[in-house]
Amino acid sequence: MAISVFDLFTVGIGPSSSHTVGPMRAAHAFVAGLQRHGMIQRAAGLRVDLYGSLAATGRGHGTFTAVLLGLEGFDPEHVLPEEVDRALERIERSGEIRLGAELSGAAALDDAAAAVPAIRFGVPDVALHPLTVLPRHTNGMRFAVLDDTGATLDEQTYFSVGGGFIVREGAEEAILDRLEQSLAEQPYPFRTAAELLAHCSSDGMTIAEVMLANELVTRDEATVRAGLERIWQVMEACKDSALTRTGLLPGGLNVRRRAPEWHRRLREQDPNRDPVFWQEWINLVALAVNEENASGGRVVTAPTNGAAGIIPAVLFYATHYAPGAASWGPEQKQRVIADFLLAAAAVGVLYKEQASISGAEVGCQGEVGSASSMAAAGLAQILGGTPEQVENAAEIAMEHNLGLTCDPIGGLVQIPCIERNAIAASKAINAAKMALMGDGSHHVSLDEVIVTMRETGRDMHTKYKETALGGLAVNVIEC
Ligand code: SF4
Repeated sequence: MAISVFDLFTVGIGPSSSHTVGPMRAAHAFVAGLQRHGMIQRAAGLRVDLYGSLAATGRGHGTFTAVLLGLEGFDPEHVLPEEVDRALERIERSGEIRLGAELSGAAALDDAAAAVPAIRFGVPDVALHPLTVLPRHTNGMRFAVLDDTGATLDEQTYFSVGGGFIVREGAEEAILDRLEQSLAEQPYPFRTAAELLAHCSSDGMTIAEVMLANELVTRDEATVRAGLERIWQVMEACKDSALTRTGLLPGGLNVRRRAPEWHRRLREQDPNRDPVFWQEWINLVALAVNEENASGGRVVTAPTNGAAGIIPAVLFYATHYAPGAASWGPEQKQRVIADFLLAAAAVGVLYKEQASISGAEVGCQGEVGSASSMAAAGLAQILGGTPEQVENAAEIAMEHNLGLTCDPIGGLVQIPCIERNAIAASKAINAAKMALMGDGSHHVSLDEVIVTMRETGRDMHTKYKETALGGLAVNVIEC
């Protein structure tokens, strides 16, 4: 299927889309396949191998536990953080996982749950191959189930290719065929910014309108708008949850949650929402969302978990500080939010099509850089930018994130990730403002900067691509 706004903005759990959401989705897909082929009840043993970046930073990113949950049949879209805690506590206590127990409501039925095999397997049984990179992508994982004689019943390899997207080995051609077919069905197919702008120009449409028209091939407009509203509500709930949670973030780095304290101080300093404090508020929103992500909370992958705070922060700016925002009624606000997310998603499509949104593939420029670029486009759109100005905003934001490496301390999505989201949100707002001061004409096109990002990522040393083997990850002493 062509990439939808609902592929780029999905609900999941933290801390990482490529290392938590993707692996859980892959393990879930594997057991769902076993169930479809009637193999679950014959399973007596399991093998899980993680490769490359998943093995190198999987511990800090929650990959191992995400895989166990996926093998039990939990999926990241629906699992609640409290269910995660309960299931992991049970797995650790019993030393067993219940293969596929959560599929199709099986867990709700006592006799069905009893029929699900309990297999001795836990985090220590996951085999790690950090120095082995499978040919397709550095985030590789292989699952195998064995029968009671030790023979392999089924074995599949998956890749987590960024933003929670997964690809099964052997299914690539079918995916490409489906993608081509669904692109052909769209009224305004595009892979490049040049194609996107050409559609806008020929039919007099905005970038958000082009994206919406393509969405309507698979969903009616009411469903699209309701889905976008839900995305925004989950972003809001994520921020609100973080503002109530104090203490240290998990993982052993002793990083203190700052959002509740900042919120208290900001409400004292700025009780009447003076626009002079806009920067402090967007810093707070970015911080809050990323603290929630770092603690395994429920977030919107936008377009990745590590970069999940940027779009909510810029959307907060749009809905609080855009001219006239204070007088918007609910319907107008809903329309503004939808336009923002649609324009941001259109730019996200360009990064997925021409480069990558995976930190393990191209460094943090693909995660935080892409999110900043998408947010700049969304903001320029709702501030009345022409398609050329929106494209210019997206280009400026990425141009000044080029070369950004991924070097999370301790392999945790905390330092530099949390503050980096706040900085990138500011860049996005500045990029939109700069673009709106011009007439849309500019030297470097968005397509050129996307290709440059891809090539910079290709040349970047592996130690700066989500392996925690370089940069801050090795120069800062963990405490
Ligand atoms: S440094 Fe950037 S790419 Fe790496 S984990 Fe943090 S947010 Fe993700």
